[in-house]
Amino acid sequence: MRTVKKLLAAISLVAGVAAYPATQPRDAAPTAIYEGARLLIGDGTVLESGAFVVQNGRLTAVGPAGKVSAPSGAAHVDLTGKTVMPAMVNVHVHIGYEGYTTWGAENHTPQNVVDHLQREAFYGTGAAQSVGSSPVDQSLQIQQDQRAGKFPPAARFFFMPGMAPPNGGPDAVLRVATTKLHVINEVSTPDEARAAVRRLADKKIPQVKLWYDDRRGTYPKLTPETMQAIIDEAHKHRMLVNAHATTLPDQKAVVRAGADVLVHMVQGEKIDDELIAILREKKPYWATVIGLGDRPGVCDRDPFFEEAMPPTVVETIRATREARGLTANCAPPGPNAPRREEIMAYNFPRMIGAGVRLVLGTDTGIHPGHTFGTGDHVELARWVQLGLKPSEAIVAATSTPARLLGISDMGMLAAGKSADFVVLDGNPLDDIHNTRKIASVYLHGRALDRAAMLAKWKGRTASQ
Ligand SMILES: [Zn+2]
Repeated sequence: MRTVKKLLAAISLVAGVAAYPATQPRDAAPTAIYEGARLLIGDGTVLESGAFVVQNGRLTAVGPAGKVSAPSGAAHVDLTGKTVMPAMVNVHVHIGYEGYTTWGAENHTPQNVVDHLQREAFYGTGAAQSVGSSPVDQSLQIQQDQRAGKFPPAARFFFMPGMAPPNGGPDAVLRVATTKLHVINEVSTPDEARAAVRRLADKKIPQVKLWYDDRRGTYPKLTPETMQAIIDEAHKHRMLVNAHATTLPDQKAVVRAGADVLVHMVQGEKIDDELIAILREKKPYWATVIGLGDRPGVCDRDPFFEEAMPPTVVETIRATREARGLTANCAPPGPNAPRREEIMAYNFPRMIGAGVRLVLGTDTGIHPGHTFGTGDHVELARWVQLGLKPSEAIVAATSTPARLLGISDMGMLAAGKSADFVVLDGNPLDDIHNTRKIASVYLHGRALDRAAMLAKWKGRTASQ
């Protein structure tokens, strides 16, 4: 606590004396050297006592404490006892529809998208990608406005359009919202698929999602030929393809067809040697999206999950004692819960062993009642529970997803990167739950005003 106060004092001191050189933009972060923290670099390496310099919102030097020299006039910030990791990158959310008192297409405004990005940032995530559920033109505009500095500090916004047959694609809840906004590119034939991909490529969109799922015979599903056409055409335009597939045969089909990112675990069955062989050959990225199926933390009165939510929403979730699909509820575990755990415990290490490139993805926002940002920490803890080393979990939440999104200046604590980092009061390498002990979050070298953000979110209930 004392360190945090010192840190805030150091920052206000620098801001107060207005010591910026003339060439520095007015809103640039103060020049500072941060000393003494354990640094989780983001590639698996650790500096037990490190130092780093922030200038103009960028890391300009990172190294062992005492070996990094401070630029003249730099503020000294003592982070002894803290752990610093890069801001996380979440490659799979569904942004825009959650309104905390309502949920749906009517909430999908630039302000609400930014609110969700702020919530991700509050919890330590510096970039978040909405997958298959964002309206293209509005989203391109939001990206442009965010780059132009028109919004308050928040996670960087990424999105990709989705492709499915007419009346296919997102689950029944999300589809109500995406249908209203005409978000899904509906394609039935390889020719339609190729034309749709080309339209997106013309807009310089780097990734696309496809759903390859008949939801147990209840949904129209892309034909194998159309699925293949989407992937082939996307690759022609250097676009990456994210594939939603949840059964063993469907995961084999999409990976074999060349999907770059596999979303979801195989559900309800154990994976086999054939899938493992395909994964070994193709090495796709993999977003597990485990935590979405878990009982939410608010059921256990964990303040970490409640602090950014209006109390009325917390009460509603706690009062909901029957299962409601993926909508947050506090129903007791269903009869399939032990089987789900058993299958995950079998499949997860085998997927990792096959060489998939694990990346953080949470599906947050797909149904009502999810808090953006908290799911990220749940996912990390689940990986470790299923056998991943904490250091590997940090890499899968930072440098690997940054690489997937093509963000060259995020995901690592290294000279030249954007100064997007999280200061923790505990060491996640000792206990992965320590990623939740957030002392402060910095984006572009500036500490977020997390107290003001919380006040805004809690205050929402006053006007209800
Ligand atoms: Zn999703």
